[in-house]
Amino acid sequence: MLDRTNKSEAPDQAARWQPVYDALHEAIISRRLAPGTKLPEDELGSIFSVSRTVVRSALQALAHDRVVRLERNRGAFVAQPTIKEAREVFDARKLIEPRIAALAARLATPEDIRSLRQHLEDERDVMKSDRSGEAIRLSAHFHLKIARIADHSIFTEILRDLISRSSLIIALYWRSRDTTCKCDAHRNIVEALAAGDGAEASALMKKHIADLFSGLDLTPTENKPQRLADILGKSRV
Ligand SMILES: [Zn+2]
Repeated sequence: MLDRTNKSEAPDQAARWQPVYDALHEAIISRRLAPGTKLPEDELGSIFSVSRTVVRSALQALAHDRVVRLERNRGAFVAQPTIKEAREVFDARKLIEPRIAALAARLATPEDIRSLRQHLEDERDVMKSDRSGEAIRLSAHFHLKIARIADHSIFTEILRDLISRSSLIIALYWRSRDTTCKCDAHRNIVEALAAGDGAEASALMKKHIADLFSGLDLTPTENKPQRLADILGKSRV
């Protein structure tokens, strides 16, 4: 789960909805639950053997993390990020993440670098397994870790939102299902941070975000109904 800003509720309450959140998040990010799927509270309640209140809390947290959409009087649905949103999210990331990387290169401590290197190991282990949802989650955390090292609260806040949106976008639009962020791209960024080379870290991050964006298949799907109409039209001739 991505870090949440709302930590006001009692820990025991959070503990009750967390497993529901985790199960749904994994199912959505690994695309077992398709975009637009309705998520009825009563049905989820009986599946997870929890109350509707607990389900509602999990759904609200998922909506906060942009993977679920809540509609007044209609309920919750798996989010369906548009191609326009995908472009906008990566445009914004291309602007702010190189700057974050440059700041992090200046501030990274040996402990930060150790933690990032450990993270690279974790990413490599997950990529060997067949857990695409977990791989996307870890990739997201890598970028947030760098933002935390950069110690810029506004950038971190903006990036947290962008990364939340990115996870589902990558899950839906990524061309090849094997990996998300390439390990070597992350590794090179860590080495630039370790060397305190802000210019290099910034350039590598810029390239990495551009590569991520070009790895998305953003072929417009709006044409699908038209194609359907064409097919139906031809079948009548
Ligand atoms: Zn990455």
